[in-house]
Amino acid sequence: MTLNGSKVALVTGASRGIGAAIARRLAHDGFSVVVNYAGNTERAEALAREIESAGGRALAVQADVSDPAAVAHMFEAVQAAFGGVDVLVNNAGIIALSPLAETEDEGFDRLVAVNLKGSFNTMREAARRLRPGGRIINFSSSVVGLRQPSYGIYAATKAGIEALTSVLAKELRGRAITVNAIAPGPTATDLFLTGKSEDLIEHYTRMAPLERLGTPEDIAAAVAFLAGPDGGWINGQTLRANGGLI
Ligand code: NDP
Repeated sequence: MTLNGSKVALVTGASRGIGAAIARRLAHDGFSVVVNYAGNTERAEALAREIESAGGRALAVQADVSDPAAVAHMFEAVQAAFGGVDVLVNNAGIIALSPLAETEDEGFDRLVAVNLKGSFNTMREAARRLRPGGRIINFSSSVVGLRQPSYGIYAATKAGIEALTSVLAKELRGRAITVNAIAPGPTATDLFLTGKSEDLIEHYTRMAPLERLGTPEDIAAAVAFLAGPDGGWINGQTLRANGGLI
């Protein structure tokens, strides 16, 4: 039996990218893992089967995190399957880049709906349901520090998540639940790589003093620290996991 033996972790956006690496890592660390996804049933189911064939417990659950009813339904499904939730990893997120002057209402609303409202929807359920000793790990981004042109709306959603993180940590006083955020730098996933030229990727690769892109596994290791026993005294913080970028 490992340290996290009977605990249940729900990872949003776990069908691919950073979320998939987190699901694999937490399963390896002994958690029963819920692989949430938006549309990619095949990849989510394949990951759940992979975890189970390695001896873990996993359940793939479709839910668009921007839909509060779907999120409530997902938590109920997890309760029914695994008996409760101990760890919420709020990893699901989308990106869209455009200067403020060129940003359409639709694009603004979608970023806010998935990143900010989506994180709120799952945090609210977790705040109501998490068992004592639980952990909430939200996802910000190092762009909150970098503040590059065109990243305004995306960075604003992530700054909002950082604010909710420290407020919720205080609201959960007395329940032995920590709430923290991870703020990755450029990490080699679809979200980062799609639509970027080789030159731009090379530019980002060299930006951090460690002179490489982050890997999903780098970020999963930081999440595993916060989710596991060694991270128990960290609360209300945003941890930038970015190779020293900012
Ligand atoms: P990817 O685009 O590679 O993966 C996104 C995941 O989120 C997929 O599993 C996708 O599911 C899921 N998802 C998207 N929208 C929803 C939704 N509405 N409801 C439920 N699930 C959804 O992203 P990354 O792995 O790169 O990003 C993970 C997190 O890390 C995000 O919050 C991102 O903002 C943050 N981040 C990433 C950085 C990077 O450089 N990659 C840097 C800083 C922060 P499906 O497959 O079904 O579409």
